[in-house]
Order: sequence, then C-alpha cells, then structure tokens
Amino acid sequence: MSLKENHTAFILRAIPYSERDLIVTLYTKDHGLRSAIAKNSRSSKRFSGGVQLFRKVDAMLQPRKNNDFDLFLEMRVLEHYPNLERDYDKITIGSYGSELMRELARGDIDSQQGFDLLDAFYQELDACPNDARQLETILHHFEVLMLKGFGVLPSLHQCHRCGKSYQDMDRLQCKRTGEGLLCTSCRQPGEPVGLIEEDTLYILHYYSNPVSTPAPDALEQQDMRFQARRVLQNSFRLILQKDLKSRPMLESVLSHQ
Ligand SMILES: [Zn+2]
Repeated sequence: MSLKENHTAFILRAIPYSERDLIVTLYTKDHGLRSAIAKNSRSSKRFSGGVQLFRKVDAMLQPRKNNDFDLFLEMRVLEHYPNLERDYDKITIGSYGSELMRELARGDIDSQQGFDLLDAFYQELDACPNDARQLETILHHFEVLMLKGFGVLPSLHQCHRCGKSYQDMDRLQCKRTGEGLLCTSCRQPGEPVGLIEEDTLYILHYYSNPVSTPAPDALEQQDMRFQARRVLQNSFRLILQKDLKSRPMLESVLSHQ
C-alpha cells in the first residue's frame, strides 16, 4: 500500500459515482489538481462538513498505483464561506471561477499560486456586500490574475506586436483571438479584430488592479463592461478552446446587473 498524504486543498467538484461514493476533484496547495474517490462519503463521519464546492479542507489522500484516482480517506473542513453560499449571484460567480481553475489547472501554473488565487477569490466573494459592481470586479480581477498566472494576459496597454502605447493609437482594436491590443500598422489583412472604446480599456485597467486604480466612470455603463468582459473571454478561449459549462449561467447573472 502506498503512503497516505495530507493535503490542504479546495474541493472544486464532487460528482456521484455510485449510490454511496463520490468522485472528487481537489485543488491541493502542493500538487495542484488531484482526483480522488471518496467511498461511503455521504454517510460517513470522515467527511463531515460536506464534500462539496466552497470547502477548504485538510484532506487525507492515498495514491494508488496505475490509477488516476487516489483514495480520499477523510477530511476536516478548515474554512467555508457562509455568505457566499447564501447568495445566488455569488454562488454562480464562485462556481464559474472554480470551473475555470479546474479546466486551466491542467496547464502550467504554480500550485501554490493557484491555491492562493482561489483562497483570495472565495474570501472576497464571501466578504463582499451585496453589490453588483463589486462582485463583477472581484470576478474579473480573478480572471485577470488567472490569465497572468497562465502567461496569457492580453496586452492592455500597448500593441502586443510592436509595443506601441495605446495612447498613441488612432483607434483601439483588440485581436479577437485573445492576445489584446493590435495597432493598425501591425494588423495584417484578414486578422480578426474588434474595435473597443477607450472607456473599455480603462475598465480593463481597473480590473487588473482595482485596489490602486480609481474606479472609472465608465464602470456604470453596461455596454462598456460587456465589451471588457468579451476581451477577457476571448483570451480564455485562446487557451481553453471552448466556453465553460458554467458560462451561460454567469452571463445571465451579469446581464441583469
Ligand atoms: Zn503594433
């Protein structure tokens, strides 16, 4: 038998496997994504506190030879987020962020960094008053940090090809394939771009660093926020090659804000 391991982890997903067992996706601080089977998890005291999303746990795992799934032996809840779990919009945003991490973490990100991102994201959602603008900012800030962590942050201050500053551009356009700003002289025939407003760019600068950037007035304009959201979404498409399952639900929450 292989050794048991203790991991501090977030539960990103738990799906029923049989009547009593769950297949659980965890994001561990030291080894990133792990998949494990929790046997008899629904009735057992070894899993009290709930094997579900929005749980930071101390998890005991036992890796198995030639098997992608560890055994999930027991856990202790270290932290949960009661305010997050009480609010539909927060749950939707939190679920989307969790799916994003689950899908992206197969790529290359430092596991400690990914863990800290999730930690801050859940805590901010939990602590946020019920304010639509703030919730949206928490989400997009998390997205920007994720893109940065995976090395695919779109270029938001200069042409991603030649480095020309956005302030010197006669019009602002972003590559539809997610790389960010592209100046008119660098654009090659047929390259798909979308025009964006200067206000959209300011919103994106704000999302990149909401703590030290003053909130731009344009943040109150839904169409500008929508445009900013598209720019980030295009960058995720570039690495995910698809939209996430939780995306439509997220869009419906954000569109009524
Ligand atoms: Zn250029």
